[in-house]
Amino acid sequence: MEKAVVVFSGGQDSTTCLLWALERFDNVETVTFLYGQRNRSELDSAKKITEDLGVKHTVLDMNLLNQLTDNAMTRKDMEIDESGEVPNTFVPGRNHIFLSFAAIFAKGIGARHIITGVSETDFSGYLDCRNNFIKSLNLTLNLAMDHPFEIHTPLMWKNKSQTWEMADEMGKLEYIRKHTTTCYNGIIGDGCGECPSCKLRKQGLDAYLAGGRAHV
Ligand code: ZN
Repeated sequence: MEKAVVVFSGGQDSTTCLLWALERFDNVETVTFLYGQRNRSELDSAKKITEDLGVKHTVLDMNLLNQLTDNAMTRKDMEIDESGEVPNTFVPGRNHIFLSFAAIFAKGIGARHIITGVSETDFSGYLDCRNNFIKSLNLTLNLAMDHPFEIHTPLMWKNKSQTWEMADEMGKLEYIRKHTTTCYNGIIGDGCGECPSCKLRKQGLDAYLAGGRAHV
């Protein structure tokens, strides 16, 4: 029986990945990391979605990360600024650390598959979302724990429109639209409509819907 662990935030991307994993693996668990996110509604979404799907959900406290870095993802008093080469919502090393802990968790439950919703297409500024990094870390983790981990990145080369298409192909577009939280201001579903994350999500959805849904 193939077990898998999904790094799960309760947002659009990781929920799409969770549904993708449920179609491929016999036994799927999720891990969510707490690191002082700006709001808790993402976590509420994560809890509800895993309950809906009947998937085991483990929440791990990674607040240490918040002690080490100042960024707009965890500091409510910082304005989100995406004007730089790397936006200030970037938390240095976040995916690196999360994937390493997810691997330790996976080994503990006898899983070798790890699924993460990172994408090089939409978040090219986020260094540890890149394909080269993931491949490198995969090798490192295998060597570190002598365990044949396989990190899956189903969204790596997809833009937001293609991620919506993937959800639609699985018959879950409306579910993901309604129940996930992607908004930096913590508003579920279509969100605040103003923050960079909401804009990206909406642009992708509009582009997909304008292209004519193939899977209604
Ligand atoms: Zn928003």
